[in-house]
Amino acid sequence: AAKAAGRRQCVAIDAAMREAVVLRQRLESELAAAIAEGQIRAWFQPIVDLGSRRCIGAEALARWHHPEFGVLEPAVFIPLMEKQGLADALFRAVLRDACVALRPLAARGALRHLSVNVSPSQFRFGTLGADVLAILEETGFPPQVLVLEITEAVLLLELSHTRDTLVQLCAQGARVALDDFGTGYSNLAYLRSLPVHCVKLDKSLTAGVEDDPRAGRLIRAFVQMAGTLELELVAEGVEAAAQAEWLAAAGCVLQQGYHFERPLPAERLEAVFGRDGT
Ligand code: C2E
Ligand code: MG
Ligand code: MG
Ligand code: MG
Repeated sequence: AAKAAGRRQCVAIDAAMREAVVLRQRLESELAAAIAEGQIRAWFQPIVDLGSRRCIGAEALARWHHPEFGVLEPAVFIPLMEKQGLADALFRAVLRDACVALRPLAARGALRHLSVNVSPSQFRFGTLGADVLAILEETGFPPQVLVLEITEAVLLLELSHTRDTLVQLCAQGARVALDDFGTGYSNLAYLRSLPVHCVKLDKSLTAGVEDDPRAGRLIRAFVQMAGTLELELVAEGVEAAAQAEWLAAAGCVLQQGYHFERPLPAERLEAVFGRDGT
């Protein structure tokens, strides 16, 4: 009986895997057209300042509004995007959508920081600089509000080229954030060789800091380093009130996480900006 049950389970898993493969192939074949048709939208996760208890910024996060499957998250389609060389096209879609949606908030000074994620592959052939400048111009979005989030994977590429692109964008007023700091090797050398204004502490560093003295000391050291280097620090993955208060008391006042808000469509972000006392 156990053997038969085992076999049934195998068959079920096998069917599920086949279904997953079919689904992935289907999404893969549809992604390019979906980008072109505007099915990739920017959603926004608020970035709050625990000093003023107000929302001061947001991170744009890609969502695929699939006509049949509903709203799909990046884990499903970012790997397909990379595989098909669609990183630039997807980035343009997200940046344009974000700039159009949030320009009013930025224009009245409520939004100080709009983060957009850049894929490392976008530095390889280099239309990133021109793309960003064209979209800022087309949408009238203030460059000083834009923050490009890069990851340490850019270190695997030709550094001088990456640096040139970022320097060009910074000259127009945009800023650069290191995303997911604390994962991977977190090589500090790129703080020396690239123009970086902001470091985002990954949730693996901020999770449970309020109960873990060792983790806490690490955060304090980063706060001190950020102060010395005049880097803005944003804590990611803040899920609990005690965690938020601990981080704020340690000097890490800019925070992002489910404790405040999950990523929201643009039309629901406005209300968060209007609100006091986060
Ligand atoms: P990321 O840039 O580090 O974005 C933060 C991710 O953490 C988001 O997931 C967000 O929803 C999630 N998150 C926020 N607060 C919490 C929290 O308190 N707890 C937990 N467990 N998670 C939290 P999302 O939207 O699924 O995006 C995942 C990743 O996909 C992003 O990580 C980013 O690397 C990539 N991505 C998203 N949008 C884009 C895009 O437009 N372009 C590129 N190249 N990559 C993108
Ligand atoms: Mg990010
Ligand atoms: Mg991140
Ligand atoms: Mg992350």
